[in-house]
Amino acid sequence: MFVVMAVGATEEQLNAVRGAVLEEGLTPHENRGGARLVVAVLGEGGAWVERLADRLSVLPGVESVTKSSRPFKLTSREFHPDDTVVRVGDIAIGDGSLTIAAGPCAIESRDQLFETAEAVRAAGANLLRGGAFKPRTSPYSFQGLGLQGLRFLAEARERTGLPVVTEVMEPGQVEHVAEYADILQIGARNMQNYSLLMAVGRIGRPVLLKRGLAGTIEEWLMAAEYVMSSGNPNVILCERGIRTFETAYRNTLDVTSVPLIHQMTHLPIVIDPSHAAGKRWLVPSLALAGTAAGADGLLIEVHPRPAEALSDGDQSLTPAQFADLAVAVRGVAEQVRAIHATRGPAMTAGSRA
Ligand code: PEP
Ligand code: MN
Repeated sequence: MFVVMAVGATEEQLNAVRGAVLEEGLTPHENRGGARLVVAVLGEGGAWVERLADRLSVLPGVESVTKSSRPFKLTSREFHPDDTVVRVGDIAIGDGSLTIAAGPCAIESRDQLFETAEAVRAAGANLLRGGAFKPRTSPYSFQGLGLQGLRFLAEARERTGLPVVTEVMEPGQVEHVAEYADILQIGARNMQNYSLLMAVGRIGRPVLLKRGLAGTIEEWLMAAEYVMSSGNPNVILCERGIRTFETAYRNTLDVTSVPLIHQMTHLPIVIDPSHAAGKRWLVPSLALAGTAAGADGLLIEVHPRPAEALSDGDQSLTPAQFADLAVAVRGVAEQVRAIHATRGPAMTAGSRA
């Protein structure tokens, strides 16, 4: 349920709303966007809904009470009409700019990471990616350097000035990984690991939430809801391709999710063309398509010598290929912004703006 307070509602009036919600044993979640304050009341539907709606709608200072029919609440535009902009240092994700995160699938050594980090920074990347804890399909594959990898990542950030994004796989690792990472990545395989989602929800670091291999958009948003309802509003969604009947490439990039996410939610969405494509030569087309669809950013795997990569070499770009692609996607992002400005948001980005 969303309670929209009238412009100019007093603190006393707001307290009366909070009190009524608390008396039902529920927690009010508040968002002040512009002049209006929205109070979300979260809980499984039941007799309380009618009772509380009747009670709240007659309180002074309350403009409207709507019973949300969608299961996702804090991630919805009803609760938060303005776009969420996630800030990491000087970088803003979701402000209309294109944020590019690039780096190796896995951190393999200090040299490999530093070489890649320098190259992607020189090519204009905004963030450095690299996995220290790797969720591999086979237990016999390289599982990542773990803590040593995190240390290399922190050193690479020092050297390049690029904030870093890295995956956390278990609730028990969250605090530790958060000491090193600027953004915590939840991998596709963990999208519905609810104890992990709640653990990253309790930490003060932005979360990059990948869509599960077979996750519907609603399931994905409910996963984001876990993070947000645990206290962390800084969620970035990442479309990385979903499992379909097609086997000619690794996963099917769901480009439609970009305008849909912008229409349904206030959260930024980035595209990971690498894990969707599975093949290096397909990555540029998917990156361009995601950018044209209005994505807020890209997550791209780059390796100095892809043939020697310990994971995802087939889909990793060389630094030179990445540099070319970065120029191309920046050009497309510029065009999208121009179209958006002159022809209106319907052309590009759902109902945002
Ligand atoms: C990755 O980013 O390297 C990764 C493992 O991605 P995903 O969880 O999307 O498979
Ligand atoms: Mn990978």
